[in-house]
Amino acid sequence: MNKEQVAEHIKCLIIGSGPAGYTAAIYAARADLKPVVYTGIVPGGQLTQTTEVDNFPGYPNGIKGPELMEDLKLQAERFGTQVRFGYVTKVDFSKDGGLHYAEIDGNTVVSADTVIIATGATAKWLGLESEQKYNGFGVSACAVCDGFFFKGQDVAIVGGGDTAAEEATYLAKLCNKVYMLVRRDEFRASKAMYHRVINTPNIEVLYNTETEEILGDGQVVTGVRVRNNKTNETKELAVTGFFVAIGHKPNTELFQGILDMDETGYLITKPDSTATNIPGVFAAGDVQDHVYRQAITAAGTGCMAALEAERYLATKED
Ligand code: NDP
Repeated sequence: MNKEQVAEHIKCLIIGSGPAGYTAAIYAARADLKPVVYTGIVPGGQLTQTTEVDNFPGYPNGIKGPELMEDLKLQAERFGTQVRFGYVTKVDFSKDGGLHYAEIDGNTVVSADTVIIATGATAKWLGLESEQKYNGFGVSACAVCDGFFFKGQDVAIVGGGDTAAEEATYLAKLCNKVYMLVRRDEFRASKAMYHRVINTPNIEVLYNTETEEILGDGQVVTGVRVRNNKTNETKELAVTGFFVAIGHKPNTELFQGILDMDETGYLITKPDSTATNIPGVFAAGDVQDHVYRQAITAAGTGCMAALEAERYLATKED
């Protein structure tokens, strides 16, 4: 990165535009830190790929994920946040309280007094060759994005968490039949989501079931071969859509070798704080939270990060 060619100095650079990033921006803007948010490739983050959000406080009737994110963005902008479409491609953080640098889209370099990392997490894949082969041709990690293409058809979804449960019920409204492939003999999802699934007549839950292969005709998905991991029995399900909903991995490749992270890549923050191991660099939301991973907890840590950035700057100016 060419630090001689700094295009702009930013007081508070926020990387990522999910609930953590935008909440950090609201607080930072109100504290006059003039935050700049770089949105990343998916402006609004994971919630833009979900349907109803029923558990974000303040919305008694629920709200659609994309609407919630648009509202958060407008709220951040109302206080002067600059929201820019851009992807941070490199970082160079100062270990001793100096300036931090970030390269945007492989060319522009900016410097920053404080950085709030809110890059979130990304959907995980099973890792099968056939999954990659048919990705976009029947295989998807986002039912809300792609479910429409399978209207009236039979589909399968793998996973037993809240995401899989939510997406299965979404697909059940569009599709003829939904097979839900759960690898254990129980769900990980909350009781409420579990009940929603088992009360949906066109969802068939297959427990102790793992995916062996996604089958296709060379062009599109035509089925899936599954194996019962208790009996070892295999069978083929005739489906045209295969949805993967098995969790997420934190988006931290950019910070490898720079910031402390745990063995699965989640950033490590100090207890009761969003501070990373580098002074002036904070982390908020799913990128540092493998326990709660909720929009509201992400927003909460976004607020903490902005307050901590403000205090960090105040201490430096003293
Ligand atoms: P989770 O990690 O909660 O669940 C992942 C699911 O996928 C588990 O059932 C897991 O099985 C299964 N799984 C993981 N790897 C594999 C594999 N290789 N093959 C087969 N199955 C696999 O992830 P989610 O994305 O569901 O949820 C993440 C967080 O977001 C949670 O805290 C959840 O509560 C929250 N959320 C809330 C929503 C809401 O309230 N509206 C909606 C969506 C998510 P196992 O249990 O055996 O590990």
